[in-house]
Amino acid sequence: MEKEIKRNCKKIQSEKAGKTQTETKLSDKIKPESVTDTLNTSKKKTTTKTKISISKIQRFSTADGPGIRTTVFFQGCNLRCKWCHNPETQSTKSTFLTFCDERKEISGKAMSVKEIFSIIKKDVDFYEISEGGVTLSGGEPLLQADAAKKLLSLCKQENISTIVDTAGAVPFENFLKVLPVTDLFYFDIKASDSKKYLSFTGGDFSLIRENLIRLTKTGARVEVCVPLILGVNTDASSRNKIANLLKTAGINDIILLPYHKYGISKYKALGRNYEFERKKLTPSSVIEKTKEFYRQKGFTLKTRK
Ligand code: SF4
Repeated sequence: MEKEIKRNCKKIQSEKAGKTQTETKLSDKIKPESVTDTLNTSKKKTTTKTKISISKIQRFSTADGPGIRTTVFFQGCNLRCKWCHNPETQSTKSTFLTFCDERKEISGKAMSVKEIFSIIKKDVDFYEISEGGVTLSGGEPLLQADAAKKLLSLCKQENISTIVDTAGAVPFENFLKVLPVTDLFYFDIKASDSKKYLSFTGGDFSLIRENLIRLTKTGARVEVCVPLILGVNTDASSRNKIANLLKTAGINDIILLPYHKYGISKYKALGRNYEFERKKLTPSSVIEKTKEFYRQKGFTLKTRK
C-alpha cells in the first residue's frame, strides 16, 4: 500500500511543481511571531506522557483536509447531533460495538501524546509531498484542549501542518490553548438559531456563535463546515441566518457537506436507535441551490480534500 501511495505522492508533487510561487504550505501561511514564541516555550512544557482518550487514528486520510493526513479522532463529545455519523465517539467512556457480521470494535482508549505522535511521524514524508498533515477530529478534540495542545505543539516542532475540527461548543479558553499551534480550524455551524441547535444537537448556539466571532477576531484561519440537512438548515430563512452570522464573523470560506447515512451500521452495533433513519437525503437540486446561494453572497466554497 505504501508503494502505491508513494507513486501517488510523486504524481501530486509533479502537479504541485506547476503552481505559482505565492502558494505555500498551510504551515507556512500562519506563523505569526507569537506562534514561534509559544512553540519555543511549549518545547519545555510539553509532557509527552500526557494521555489522550481517542477513538481511533486514521492514517492516509484524504477527506479531513488538504493532502494526505493522519486524523486523530478524539473520544468524547458534548453534543448529540441527531445525524452524527460517529456516535461511537460521543461517550467519554470506552464504547463497544458489535456489528451484524460479529465483528467487534472498541472506541475509546487512552494513549500518551508520545505514542500518538510516533504514529503521526511515520507518514511525515507523505505530508510533505502532498501538503498534508494532521487533523484532530472526533468527538470534540477541544474537550481535551491541554492534551491536544501538547500533541499539536509536537507537530509544529516538526513543521507538520495542523487542523482542528471542532463543533465549537466549548469554553473559549480551550480555543486559546490550541490557537498558537493550529494552522486551520474547521468550525461546524450545524443550524441557524438557538431553538434548532438545541433541538437537533443539544448545543448552546449563543456560545458557539460567540466562539466563532471571537476566534476569527484573533486572526485564526477558519473555514466553516455546514452539513446540509433537510428541515434543519437548507431552507431560505436558515441559509440567510447562517450567511449573516458568517458575515458578522468575517468568514469567507465555507464547506458544504451533503448529509449521508454512513453511520447507521454503527448505531446498530451500539444497540442504539438512529433517529434520522427515515430522514430523506438532501436532493442534489437543494445542494446546488444552496451552493449557488452562498456563492452569490460572496463566499468561497471549499472542500475538505
Ligand atoms: S459534534 Fe460531531 S461528534 Fe459530536 S455529536 Fe455532533 S456530529 Fe457527532
